[in-house]
Amino acid sequence: MKPEISIEFFPPQTPEGVDKLRTVRAELAQLKPAFFSVTFGAGGSTRERTFSVVKEIAAEGHDAAPHLSCIGSTRASIREILADYRAAGIKRIVALRGDLPSGMAETGEFRYANELVEFIRAETGDWFSLEVAAYPEWHPQARSPKDDLDAFVRKVKAGANSAITQYFYNADAYFSFVEEARALGADLPIIPGIMPIVGFTKLARFSDACGAEIPRWMRKKFESFGDDADSIRAFGLDVVTDLCERLLKGGAPGLHFYAMNQSALTKEICRRLG
Ligand code: FAD
Repeated sequence: MKPEISIEFFPPQTPEGVDKLRTVRAELAQLKPAFFSVTFGAGGSTRERTFSVVKEIAAEGHDAAPHLSCIGSTRASIREILADYRAAGIKRIVALRGDLPSGMAETGEFRYANELVEFIRAETGDWFSLEVAAYPEWHPQARSPKDDLDAFVRKVKAGANSAITQYFYNADAYFSFVEEARALGADLPIIPGIMPIVGFTKLARFSDACGAEIPRWMRKKFESFGDDADSIRAFGLDVVTDLCERLLKGGAPGLHFYAMNQSALTKEICRRLG
């Protein structure tokens, strides 16, 4: 059986971005993803834009999974969003805590993602299939790996159906996380998040912030390419394709692509994977 893939977008800010995403989506739809997901700015900053992209995806006949981050939100506002999604026939949500945008002081009525999962289950029963985040290299704010794993298991026990990981380039971190989660009774599918590599400088900055490690051998190689975009692209494609192959061979149930609203790299990786 072919492993399922899913593909993540962010909601564009401009009409040109919305148009471009339509083209990207049409190209990526050829890969027959199980669903397209759309990110959500914590505090509700992208609420309308996320909903609008999700409705378009659903109208095109694809499964759409809005992300929903709860930090900075009230129960009443999350309840409204859930009602909108339900009315639009949406059946899947990626349930997250999110990060408070800088300058926003109000943490709102939810502290952690397990509280959001509990709330969605209490409000809507089994209507939504819920995906939660997992961190094979540990969340940057986690007090310890054990605490982070316990937090993950709390989300599972609160009612998550499936998990998507933060991206990583070290397959062993994923296998070890899955083994530890299983030992604690978390037997849901844990889908690796895959970040195709467009450029190195931005990726390095972003990885530092979100706690994803770029191994030294990769970092050194990327640095040696300087501004040579073709070499960066070629090496990035090789590395990510090898990672995906290893993950699937090792039993990963699917792949979730952080496509960053572009189609070329995700398509090429999937083509190479056959
Ligand atoms: P949680 O599971 O709540 O964990 C957050 C931190 O709190 C962890 O360090 C955990 O160990 C700790 N923790 C949990 N419970 C407790 C407790 N009871 N006591 C003490 N510590 C605790 N962000 C967005 O804003 N929008 C998005 O659309 C978005 N999409 C994402 C999609 C994926 C697949 C992933 C992996 C991440 C995404 N993020 C998104 C980023 C995510 O919101 C951040 O990583 C955020 O910092 C944590 O969210 P979480 O849902 O994992 O939080």
